[in-house]
Amino acid sequence: MRIPLSGPDVTEAEVQAVAEVLRGRQLSLGPWLERFERELCSAVGASDAVAVNSGTGALHLTLLAMGLGPGDEVLTTPFSFVASANAILHAGAHPVFADIDPRTFNVDPERVEKALTSKTRALLPVHVFGRPAAMQDLLAIAERRGLRVVEDACEAFGGRLDGDALGTLGHAGVYAFYPNKAITTGEGGAVVTCDGALARRARSLRNQGRDPRDGRLHTELGYSFRLSEMACALGAGQLRRLNEILLRRQAIARHYLERLSGQEDLLLPATVEEADDRGWFVFVVQLRSRFSAADRDRIARALESRGIGCGRYFVPIHLQPYYRREFGYGEGDFPIAESVAERTLALPFFNRIRDEQIDEVCDALIGACAGP
Ligand SMILES: *Cc1c(COP(=O)(O)O)cnc(C)c1O
Repeated sequence: MRIPLSGPDVTEAEVQAVAEVLRGRQLSLGPWLERFERELCSAVGASDAVAVNSGTGALHLTLLAMGLGPGDEVLTTPFSFVASANAILHAGAHPVFADIDPRTFNVDPERVEKALTSKTRALLPVHVFGRPAAMQDLLAIAERRGLRVVEDACEAFGGRLDGDALGTLGHAGVYAFYPNKAITTGEGGAVVTCDGALARRARSLRNQGRDPRDGRLHTELGYSFRLSEMACALGAGQLRRLNEILLRRQAIARHYLERLSGQEDLLLPATVEEADDRGWFVFVVQLRSRFSAADRDRIARALESRGIGCGRYFVPIHLQPYYRREFGYGEGDFPIAESVAERTLALPFFNRIRDEQIDEVCDALIGACAGP
């Protein structure tokens, strides 16, 4: 693609930092891990961070560290990347879905309330596309019912809600550092929390369930989810530029919003005023309801034929083949998520996109919406 959907932003200084690690003697569990975790804590205002080798692994370890497992239900959204629900299954618990609010694409607290059962132990809201979930309502429900709250903030690193970093509002939050996320370690993720016991358990589970006082002893069934020193050095470099990266992503989002505002065919992901607080992960527009899924696919193909990458996020989790087969879900089970999923279109969004490329994407999109 001439203008890809996503693209890396790694500086020469970051390349040098990774090369330095490779010339040294410690390629895992060394000073860069500690430094990356410390700097993550200060970036988001958490007291502990546990860096692991994927966002999915971070979710999985968080649920295990909370003691969740077989017989427990965890409430989440059907409109997310499949990892949100997979992690619940990996932990041995059962994901229960509640449909979304069509305006925010995030789980609807009223529907969450209706889906609670005597087995519900935790809520796992996702800040989809970096837009904050209705945390105030969800935290109130959790408080009332004694539930744990794990924020899947994998798409929301850098976003804030009333001044607090997304990912630090619940009992624990999870970020991901895959290359298309706001900052990257190549592959990676992290748990952040202010619960020291939870962090200690996640840290032990990350490294084979090792006893922190005697590394020969394995006190529980752990995993091999460590993040290499090379990845941590890259992550620390990206964090050093965090403000610059977040400002650039906000500027790209504002540019899109300004260029696309007033387009009757499109629902935009934010107003220009709202742009500053989002964790800008992707820029997703929604076509109005007079468009069908086939129209959306035609528009996506029209952009792609001009060398413009675009994404169709997400096929709802309950309609993924594995979930249909394993749990018997089908069309109509979560109609709002399904209807949103048919009409979303993600546009190219990465730090190094040029303003004239954004203009070109907008012109192509407006042209494609107008007709074949
Ligand atoms: C990226 C992402 C994850 C984690 O992905 P990994 O590839 O495991 O790092 C989890 N949840 C959501 C919503 C994501 O977008």
